[in-house]
Amino acid sequence: MVKAVVGANWGDEGKGKITDMLAEKADIVVRFQGGANAGHTIVNNYGKFALHTLPSGVFYQHITSVIGNGVALNIPLLVDEIKSITDREVPMPKILVSDRCQIVMPYHILFDQYEEERLGGKSFGSTKSGIAPFYSDKYAKIGFQVSELFDEEVLRDKLNRVCETKNVLLEHLYHKPVLIPDELFETMQKYREMIAPYVCDVSNYLNQALKDGKTVLLEGQLGTLKDPDHGIYPMVTSSSTLAAYGAIGAGIPPYEIKQIVTVCKAYSSAVGAGAFVSEIFGDEADELRRRGGDGGEFGATTGRPRRMGWFDCVASKYGCRLQGTTDVAFTVLDVLGYLDEIPVCVGYEVDGEVITDFPVTCKLEKAKPVLKKLPGWKAEIRGIRKYEELPENCRKYVEFIEEQIGYPITMVSNGPGREDIIYRESPLSK
Ligand code: GDP
Repeated sequence: MVKAVVGANWGDEGKGKITDMLAEKADIVVRFQGGANAGHTIVNNYGKFALHTLPSGVFYQHITSVIGNGVALNIPLLVDEIKSITDREVPMPKILVSDRCQIVMPYHILFDQYEEERLGGKSFGSTKSGIAPFYSDKYAKIGFQVSELFDEEVLRDKLNRVCETKNVLLEHLYHKPVLIPDELFETMQKYREMIAPYVCDVSNYLNQALKDGKTVLLEGQLGTLKDPDHGIYPMVTSSSTLAAYGAIGAGIPPYEIKQIVTVCKAYSSAVGAGAFVSEIFGDEADELRRRGGDGGEFGATTGRPRRMGWFDCVASKYGCRLQGTTDVAFTVLDVLGYLDEIPVCVGYEVDGEVITDFPVTCKLEKAKPVLKKLPGWKAEIRGIRKYEELPENCRKYVEFIEEQIGYPITMVSNGPGREDIIYRESPLSK
């Protein structure tokens, strides 16, 4: 059976922790989209790790970690990341990389930087990991699949063709040094050696594993609001962040996805530009940022301070709906224990009207938050393992949000560790 772990919002909801936790009872964890532009932070008995490309199951020896065809694969970063965990006593994980996975080329990273430079103040806040140029090339059909590394003739010929078009832009739009096909060919030879031990027909492998009754976790990156179709376009990422895309990005039948765990954080945070209706500023934001996550809300990849806000029921209800949520994992609830009152965004005011359905981007830009204040619980809740033992106001907070979003909160996370989880029966579970 297949379970997906995906984000309801802007990312950084705590998917890494939930995947790491669920991986204990799974066999395979698959990354199906995105690249090394975002990261998951995982705290376990080996220490604290920031993963960017590796699936969050790599810390278990029984797990096979799979990089599906939908991922933007940065080969040197993957190799470095493997080394960074094995250097810290983690046993060498079993890793498979799809032969259909496409490669982030060195020039994708350069183009990302050059374009951000060119746009100046109007930039998208890219992490400059080459992700947007990578996916543009993939859909323009000038990307390189891992399998192509093993066919020198095809590779040389295609590199010549691609460099021709790229060089026009480099010379005339960006005024930067041009690409040399022979140099790129050398780099590709190195990439081939680095990736060869892991290459696999992943779709075939997964389909066989499912026939054998294995449990597969699909691990999403970012969240619904960063989806190129359903998110806050154009301030989105370049590959779909939805569980449905897991079928495509891993090469499995969509009907195999039986459980969709959507991760929602108990407050909001976002990185990059774009409308963020429940955003807060100043001291209020600084305090939440400092206390947030595990050691503060700063990007796992970039170290950038995250933008902070109150929980947004409008965005989260929408985020859960688009994912096809069967279960909500409600995370980082422990962080809110310092507040006397906790504002929650329950609606958006757009042109004098209050709405609770998440609007298209041009309307979203005009939305003002409608806030409702809930009483805080003023207590440390880490270490609690039973839902009934949470302070009453804390339970009320969970239940209020569940009612607003309309999807069952069956897991409450009250700390960064694997064991910091409270399972809950939800009246909304089917
Ligand atoms: P992801 O990209 O969705 O995996 O999220 P990140 O890993 O970037 O951000 C989540 C942060 O919150 C990480 O630092 C986690 O260790 C931390 N975290 C996850 N769940 C909890 C929780 O329930 N409580 C606390 N305090 N931190 C958590």
